[in-house]
Amino acid sequence: MTQQRATIIRGGRLAGRGQRGELADILVQGDAIAEIGPPGLAAPPDAVTIDAANRLLHPGLINAHTHGHGNLAKGMGDRWTLELLLAAGPWITGNRTLEEKYLTTYVGAVEMLLKGCTACYDLTVEFPLPSIEGLEACGRAYADAGMRAVLAPMVAELSFYESYPGLIALLPAAAQQEIERLRLAPGEATLQVMRQSMQAWKFDRDVVRPAVAPTIPHHCSDDFMRACAALAREFDVGLHSHVQESKAQVMVGLKRYGKTQTAHLQDLGLLSPSFTVAHGVWLNHDDMARLGDHGASVAHNPGSNMRLGNGLADLRAMLTRKVNVGIGTDGANCSDNLNMYESMRLASMVSKAQGPDTDRWLTTDEVFAAATEGSARALGFGGKLGRLAAGYKADIVFLDLTNVNWMPLNNVTNQLVHTEDGAAVRHVMVGGRLVVEDRRVAGVDMAALARRVESARARLAEVNVPNRALFWRVEQVVNTFCPGLAKMPYHIDRFGGGHHGHDHAAYVKPKA
Ligand SMILES: [Zn+2]
Repeated sequence: MTQQRATIIRGGRLAGRGQRGELADILVQGDAIAEIGPPGLAAPPDAVTIDAANRLLHPGLINAHTHGHGNLAKGMGDRWTLELLLAAGPWITGNRTLEEKYLTTYVGAVEMLLKGCTACYDLTVEFPLPSIEGLEACGRAYADAGMRAVLAPMVAELSFYESYPGLIALLPAAAQQEIERLRLAPGEATLQVMRQSMQAWKFDRDVVRPAVAPTIPHHCSDDFMRACAALAREFDVGLHSHVQESKAQVMVGLKRYGKTQTAHLQDLGLLSPSFTVAHGVWLNHDDMARLGDHGASVAHNPGSNMRLGNGLADLRAMLTRKVNVGIGTDGANCSDNLNMYESMRLASMVSKAQGPDTDRWLTTDEVFAAATEGSARALGFGGKLGRLAAGYKADIVFLDLTNVNWMPLNNVTNQLVHTEDGAAVRHVMVGGRLVVEDRRVAGVDMAALARRVESARARLAEVNVPNRALFWRVEQVVNTFCPGLAKMPYHIDRFGGGHHGHDHAAYVKPKA
């Protein structure tokens, strides 16, 4: 992603931390921003000039949580809870060829780039265990698209059914027998592949880097969780897990651990600055303090949380407790698009939907910071991505200020969060290279890509007929058992109810 000649971007308006649309020039050398200055900034005589008149330049958005495997499954579910989505996994994600693993990831990368996102944290899945070739195919998809990614195989020891004690016994006998074939590989074998994959990693780690993702704590043994954490430490990579996403998960966790999953993960020694909790909808204030005290991150996915009926996460309470918060889209199998502008808008709305106490609402500055610098830190790119500043990577989105979204331009950050929807994205630069130019992804024939995707869709629909049938055989039981768990009483001190004086104490209201 480096280039020899410098690039000078002239006459754009800047957005990001402390930037309010002022005109500036940006000098890019290699893959990074060398200097930002007032119009007329000096540049080497052979520098390539990009005219950014009528462009708003913002740091590439960073998707803190997604699933590359989900992109071929967009629109397949409607009234699905998280647990129904997990039960549908073999149907909507099963039997993928290597080419399809590449394709599903590639389509997501293309979508993210076209919608102003330049890096993501991808938890990808293979059954019954990850493979070196599979991970390489996914990594290649990002490298080919020209996008950065942290790529973690999503791993576990127990199938969805095994992870909910008592669920299997309620299934029809035929289904009980059939789910036997959904057993995952032993943890040892999975750990072995992850280790080999990281040893043989062939991508530039500034572009595509590995990470470790034990999917959901109660789908894993404690030994497996500890081994995953040890592996992440050994290779100095991130650790990512879905924690307290649904209330049903919380109830299972309380029963199994006698405490919240976060408290249990702390006991296991998993909490650290390289640990990311996906969702955290059901974190209580003590859980948030545990994460904050350990410098850990939460990847907030408001679209998915609402789509799956999991609820509304309380970001104000997390920020008050020093949790690093990033924003994500989650997979297209449960959010159906990978639009980070929409995720920012929803993050703002979700904070406001929880009550009229405006002090607890996120400001648009806070939302934009979460979707850039916060996500960057979760990805392990803190101080390298998420800002337009000298020394940061040249990951820059060029928005067209003649798009109707920007008529008029009243407030740069507010409109990035509340108005922009991706329609104004004109060019996208990653590491100093234009990977989207005039709304086209460099080197991609969209019609040919659509044909490849359609033939994959048709083949998968056919080979997954038995998995689809299995889903509909278990659907009613899963959809009674898990919501039943979620109806059990559980007091959680969230949304400020009764406790929110505590939040106010540490929260300084921003100046109007
Ligand atoms: Zn997820």
